[in-house]
Amino acid sequence: MRPNILFVAAEAAPLAKTGGLGDVVSALSEALNSDGIHATVLMPGYTAALDHAEKLKPCGRLSGLPGGDAALWCGHMPDSDVEVILLRNDALYKRAGSPYLDADGNEFADNGLRFAALSHAAAQLASGATDIELPHVVHAHDWHAGLVPMLMREYGAEAKSIFTIHNLAFQGNYSLACSAEFGIPEHVRQDASVEYWGQLSFMKAALNYADRITTVSNSYAREILTPKFGSGFDGLLRQRQNDLVAVPNGIDTLTWDPTVDPLIARNYDQEDLRGKQVCKRDLQKTFGLPFDPFAPVMAMGSRLTTQKMADVAIEAMPVLLAAHPRLQIAILGCGDRDIEDGLRALATNHPDRVGLHIGYDEGRAHCLHAGADMLLHGSRFEPFGLTPIYSMRYGTVPIASRVGGLADTVVDAGSVEQPVVNATGFLFDGEAAADMIAAVERALAMFVQPQLWRALQREDMTADVGWEKSSQLYINLYRTLIAEPAKAMFQPVSRERTTRPVEQVSMKRA
Ligand code: ADP
Repeated sequence: MRPNILFVAAEAAPLAKTGGLGDVVSALSEALNSDGIHATVLMPGYTAALDHAEKLKPCGRLSGLPGGDAALWCGHMPDSDVEVILLRNDALYKRAGSPYLDADGNEFADNGLRFAALSHAAAQLASGATDIELPHVVHAHDWHAGLVPMLMREYGAEAKSIFTIHNLAFQGNYSLACSAEFGIPEHVRQDASVEYWGQLSFMKAALNYADRITTVSNSYAREILTPKFGSGFDGLLRQRQNDLVAVPNGIDTLTWDPTVDPLIARNYDQEDLRGKQVCKRDLQKTFGLPFDPFAPVMAMGSRLTTQKMADVAIEAMPVLLAAHPRLQIAILGCGDRDIEDGLRALATNHPDRVGLHIGYDEGRAHCLHAGADMLLHGSRFEPFGLTPIYSMRYGTVPIASRVGGLADTVVDAGSVEQPVVNATGFLFDGEAAADMIAAVERALAMFVQPQLWRALQREDMTADVGWEKSSQLYINLYRTLIAEPAKAMFQPVSRERTTRPVEQVSMKRA
């Protein structure tokens, strides 16, 4: 039997992407299809998705959804065999720009409604509301699809459900007064299963009702059971520990491959890094930095938020620039306004040393990874951390926080005096500028030792980072779930309040 899996997500690159979620949804569905699984992606019919999905045709209609009736359009992901179903309700999704934000960078006021509609659509599909083949497993990703497992039970779907936490800090918490508008059944409203400190929480609904919960690295799976990283849900997650599985992410090794990447100035491989010099020159030009083949170039490319310690980088960078007169820094990102402003000021104060591009730009991201010598990637918490893995593929050595997936994937190189064999980068503990600076200092010291640096680059460029192993882990999980008997009468796992309130994290992902 060929398992039929329905992915439900707000992003799938290249149709929609603001961060790692979009990359993972499309790369994983692609890997599963190559391994004989029929994985289809259900996502909103954003303008860009309708424009770029291939072979689109109408394939059904759904009624009774929050926000109104919707059409289903079936097609394929660009340049891919993966099938995609676009949920088309133009009033909800046909908007320019980011999946979540308006032109001024503010979250759409109706995001709760938009993703409640997506969750209802998935549950209806799984319960046979259309002619589309029924899935064996519905695999919901992040809070946007958080209501799916609960609604599947309401609609009487027989499929099993998996919920993957890509980032526990984005929770989809809304006023309980929205419950009726979001189509939350009355009896669910009465219990505490979706209630989070007086709010309705998509995340809590997912954690309570999914048959299995997965998350994207071994370390993050352990961390989220603790108050420090549990974002208020560590208690509930500890109760569901037996159903919580870590499946580390992989990366799309074709898209991020210096030997064939069409978005970089010259292709290269680990045997011959001359092309990387050409890419470095291109990076210096693109980011307005003087051409200097021997200058250490440190990149930073991420959402510009406190999660990514961009605030700490603003403190650390002037110190590093003062101490290392040849150091150049190239920054690509967008996010919190005050952090963007802080970086603008840094670039203004160091015009020949700091190249800054505020914005979301896939091409520039490739240019950055290929051309830089090292990548600074601080994180206060990091479920997986794709960006440092991308940089590694291009022989750009990561300097990262020892948290979550980064602690699993980056092997610390030690020091020039005591280098570590088979290392891939530099790790630091702590959230102070001094912690970050100390790690960059170690990297800069090793950069001027060509043999040690070359060994690091070789290790980075040959690391096993594809989806092969993890695709098999998901397949085993799907098969186990499919073989399990259905739960006869579901009781929410926790009727108690979650452990503590957390400040609602901004949904801004772009
Ligand atoms: P997160 O999912 O927390 O944002 P990851 O490092 O796992 O972090 O994934 C981020 C993804 O988003 C990577 O593909 C990265 O290249 C991309 N990205 C982030 N910011 C930008 C930007 N400003 N321009 C282009 N790509 C970006």
